[in-house]
Amino acid sequence: MIRSLLLVALASAALSLLNCRAASAADALLIENVTVLSPEQAQPRGNRYVLVRDGRIAAVSDRPIEAPGARRLDGTGKFLTPGIMDGHVHVSDAIGLPFGSTDPAMGAMEKQFLVQQPRSYLYFGVTQVVDLINRPARVAEFTGQPQHPDTFRCGVAPVVDGYPLVFMEPAARYAQFDDYIYEPANAGKHPLPAGADPAEHTPEAVVERIAKSGAICVKTTLEDGFGDRSDWPLMSMDTLRRLRAATKKHGLLLLVHANALDMQRKAVEAQVDIIAHGLWNWNELQVQPGIPPAIAEHLRNIRGHGIGYQATLRVIPGVTDLLDPTLLDDPAYAKVVPPAILKWYRTDAAQWFRTEVFGPKPDAAAILNSRRAADASWANSEHGMRALRYLYELGQPLLLGSDTPSAPTYGNQPGYDTFKEMQLMSRAGIPLTAIFAAATINNARAYRMEKDYGTVEKGKIANLLLLDANPLADVDAWSRIDRVILHGEPIDRESLAAH
Ligand SMILES: [Zn+2]
Repeated sequence: MIRSLLLVALASAALSLLNCRAASAADALLIENVTVLSPEQAQPRGNRYVLVRDGRIAAVSDRPIEAPGARRLDGTGKFLTPGIMDGHVHVSDAIGLPFGSTDPAMGAMEKQFLVQQPRSYLYFGVTQVVDLINRPARVAEFTGQPQHPDTFRCGVAPVVDGYPLVFMEPAARYAQFDDYIYEPANAGKHPLPAGADPAEHTPEAVVERIAKSGAICVKTTLEDGFGDRSDWPLMSMDTLRRLRAATKKHGLLLLVHANALDMQRKAVEAQVDIIAHGLWNWNELQVQPGIPPAIAEHLRNIRGHGIGYQATLRVIPGVTDLLDPTLLDDPAYAKVVPPAILKWYRTDAAQWFRTEVFGPKPDAAAILNSRRAADASWANSEHGMRALRYLYELGQPLLLGSDTPSAPTYGNQPGYDTFKEMQLMSRAGIPLTAIFAAATINNARAYRMEKDYGTVEKGKIANLLLLDANPLADVDAWSRIDRVILHGEPIDRESLAAH
């Protein structure tokens, strides 16, 4: 947090120097005659006047406000909401590009992607993000772009050889993730890497380092394998409890990657703050209709312990979308993907991850198999939707987290995917008011930022959206954005599009 606040402060200082403006009058913005939607209010409030000064909301009134010198925005017929917060993103990688390529053309595309990425979030109204991968230099590159959402991050604390380290070459694992935790119970098969000091890799030492790095949260993983696998090493309950205690001591939130029933049960037992994925792997209960009693009991435990739950409904469709021949033709998709990268996504070389997951094309049997795999994935995804709906019915405050990108799939794109996550929540039967709260006040509360974000109220940071349609009438209104207001600065939506 300290790091990102510092960057925000430096960036705004640089902006005011550039503009050579007197701070008070020229930095004020008056939005007139607008319908205000704020999640703490049961009803929309029409004909409101909202004054923004120095990047914060200074007044919300039902009468015209005198503000000489303020810039004015006519809000007639429009809707003013808080900006969207996506509580689960990863900004480190250029999506879909092969890892570790030395081809200069790939390097150029990666650069283009990283420059466009923060603007893509803003294009879809996402004004706050939480990055859940521990690569501070990449996050700094994201916030180094002139226009970017307010950005917060978690430090990642996986167990030695566990997920996601299991996907990396042993030699490269610990260069990228040096805040790994040594699990004595796994000592035989998963010893500490040569030369590492065990005292540096206890839960306490790791959390202390992460706290010093400016992160607001620690994310660990409970994942014993995707699909049929269940042989990846896990943290013991004892270590997980120590991690819980250490994060509390440093005032950090504890997030856990877990999407299977057995893994999520451990997360509940350890009383984590937020489970960073929906429950779509129901283990042996997979074939049962509705909500099987054991699933219901687990979801009631999540609710009962006040544990946050990010449904991340886009994880599976983000991969199966690679089989959708129309994906790259979606005009909204082109708004967030630079043209050269969009062109490259259409090439055979860009299908490397699809081939890895679904097998090669164009052999007919392979296509059939890949369809079967996609159908099976979709069945899983629908479990996640059922679980989410059940939690909603229990009164759980839902959270918005898209997990963009959840894999090296170009099916997940920044901002675009956050919007699709909201559409999927709607498809899962979640009412529009609950989706609105998930995207705004609930995320702000879950990340302990409600002082600054989540509502249209005096004193909050003026990260706002001026919409052409009512998002409490239609979820698609979240993509009918007239202007994105970032720290009081109105930005034309189309100026944020990729070009
Ligand atoms: Zn993730």
